[in-house]
Amino acid sequence: MRDSVVGPRVLLKRLRELMAEPLGPQERLDHIVRDIARNMVAEVCSLYVLRADSVLELYATEGLNPGSVHLAQLRLGQGLVGTIAASARALNLSNAQEHPAFAYLPETGEEIYHSFLGVPVLRAGRTLGVLVVQNRTMRTYREDEVEALETTAMVIAEMIAAGDLARLSRPGIELDLSRPVSMTGLAFNEGVGLGHVVLHEPRIVVTNLFNEDSEAEVDRLDAALGSLRLSIDDMLSRREVAFEGEHRDVLEAYRMFANDRGWVRRLEEAIRNGLTAEAAVEKVQSDMRARMVHMTDPYMRERMSDFDDLANRLLRQLMGRSPDDIAAALPKDSIIVARSMGAAELLDYPREKLRGLVLEDSAITSHVVIVARAMGIPVVGQVKGGVSMSENGDAVIVDGEEGAVHLRPQSDVESAYAEKVRFRARRQQLYRELRKKPSVSRDGVSVDLMMNAGLAVDLPQLADAGAAGIGLFRTELQFMVASTFPRAEAQERLYRDVLDAAQGKPVTFRTIDIGGDKVLPYFKDAGQEENPALGWRAVRLTLDRPGLLRTQVRALLRAAGGRELRVMLPMVTELGEIAQAREIIDREVRHLSRFGHHLPNSLKIGAMLEVPSLLFQLDELMQTVDFVSVGSNDLFQFVMATDRGNSQLADRFDALSVPFLRILRQIAQAGKRNETPVTLCGELAGKPISAMALIGLGYRAISMSPAAIGPVKAMLAELPVDDLTTFMNENLAGMSARLPMRALLHTFADDRGIPL
Ligand code: PEP
Ligand code: MG
Repeated sequence: MRDSVVGPRVLLKRLRELMAEPLGPQERLDHIVRDIARNMVAEVCSLYVLRADSVLELYATEGLNPGSVHLAQLRLGQGLVGTIAASARALNLSNAQEHPAFAYLPETGEEIYHSFLGVPVLRAGRTLGVLVVQNRTMRTYREDEVEALETTAMVIAEMIAAGDLARLSRPGIELDLSRPVSMTGLAFNEGVGLGHVVLHEPRIVVTNLFNEDSEAEVDRLDAALGSLRLSIDDMLSRREVAFEGEHRDVLEAYRMFANDRGWVRRLEEAIRNGLTAEAAVEKVQSDMRARMVHMTDPYMRERMSDFDDLANRLLRQLMGRSPDDIAAALPKDSIIVARSMGAAELLDYPREKLRGLVLEDSAITSHVVIVARAMGIPVVGQVKGGVSMSENGDAVIVDGEEGAVHLRPQSDVESAYAEKVRFRARRQQLYRELRKKPSVSRDGVSVDLMMNAGLAVDLPQLADAGAAGIGLFRTELQFMVASTFPRAEAQERLYRDVLDAAQGKPVTFRTIDIGGDKVLPYFKDAGQEENPALGWRAVRLTLDRPGLLRTQVRALLRAAGGRELRVMLPMVTELGEIAQAREIIDREVRHLSRFGHHLPNSLKIGAMLEVPSLLFQLDELMQTVDFVSVGSNDLFQFVMATDRGNSQLADRFDALSVPFLRILRQIAQAGKRNETPVTLCGELAGKPISAMALIGLGYRAISMSPAAIGPVKAMLAELPVDDLTTFMNENLAGMSARLPMRALLHTFADDRGIPL
């Protein structure tokens, strides 16, 4: 047995010539397999391509029966070829027939060959096919031969990705590269978006594969690695990153990998085999990524994603691509696909081009999701593998109702969704028509439908949704998307903008509600807590850091000069906290008036009812404040002892259950008794069925996300409030509660044609 006479460089050179020749795709493939066989002194070289139906089809062969081309087939996982494709790993065997996975295909005539080397054809971590060489004698292929075959496979991957081979497939047969993939995650924001993938960390497609001068390429790689390391150090030292836990961990991992000797050695080896520096990065990464798919250890998967991002950064260094080039090329129906991202990064994308957001990580309460919701774009989170399955420009559908992502959807799925989008648009149109109509029930009871907000991007929705005002302005959002504490002027500017946009409609500003799940990375005083939901948060925190509260109150008072100012305190537990806060507010009022500032013409101070202790002093509470707003998200979590962010418990207990409804009714009744206005501003207000229940319990003002106002108003228009009140009182009375209240409410609505 003669060893291969020429190295991979010569083979790559030959392939480059072949790519330049004016050949048809089949002819080109035939030449490629012939030249590989010749170069590796193998009797057989065959290429199998993976089809969308998970079948590997023989596309070209040198040495096997030529009549079996396009006929010989193996399923993914079947035979040696199927095993290689399924595992994305090379197989190097001196006696193939002894391998347990060996499957004999009589049409190929391969029984006379013993040694076998097969490598996966990989691109961006996905297996597109398998390339095989075989010899009659029993031999083990050397390491450099494996490397050469892998490098060659990359060239073939480019041919497949470029669509060259699609023309060779029979009509109706699709290659795997264009296979539709549906992934499920968690619905983080409702809505449906159709568009095209924009990878947040765009993967750069390398098309320039062959190098002219290996040493020069190694130098280019070294230079790019040098700048990469510098840029990571620079990012790590930037102020806004310095304290961000998660972000910082990722960057620390980058730094470690950028100095990883093994990685650099593999890159250099690939260059010495004839690849350009960028093709080498792509190859090494592709190999690692494909192997990763089969790894189950979440820690390792996470680290692999770090490596992935790093390789991308390196590619961008090598190819000189700037973020501006990328932004300019954004499609007008962009669906951003990211592993995770910061809230500020999302705000960098032009809103008019965004149709959806897909995140591999992140929780529903993460800042980026809060911002996406404020921007009104559908979001699906926890989509494992979302980034590696997607290519820039792939068609994609984000279904924020079902929590599904359909990548490269088939036409029937696409048209079903297009219909869904049209249906939603018609419904939205209907809600828009309702916008100017008063929010009154069928029997003439008027209910104020307010909206929740927290960022400047929310403001246009005030008019669009036809809200009666802002029932909850979450001031902490400005703090959460910033990298340092917003200055007094920035706070005042935002509050002034909000009041201007409201044009005299009431706005209730909640003082900063941080702590718990709302962490400020730059606020070092808030340390790790065993039980943050029950910890140092909201008004507890601001009373302990009165400087924070004073600055905010002053900004609010100044912004509201000559207008009404409504301030609300979050997470009040005992009445003393209200007295303390009022003292701080009064002091600021005195201070500003002493210096001749224009003060608000009315100042109302309210408390959020979120902690159960207040339920046992409702009358005193109502006497102490100008208004009360029920924060049902927190109140429910504390009453039911159920973490509001725990998806495992999300559907376990129902807010529309007898005990919780009785609590809500007691609060409404106490408000009425004491003539203190009571509203509710948790998520409960935004679903037509629960909004209906609240109205039945006596609530006449509720605050919800802007998108919910239309559906709730449509429900209200058909609602006989008197009947409902009687119905609820009957069903909440005594021991009569048998059926679940939710079901009873549904029946009530169905019987009367109330849209829920
Ligand atoms: C609530 O707890 O219901 C509420 C409105 O406040 P947040 O969701 O901001 O905690
Ligand atoms: Mg709350």
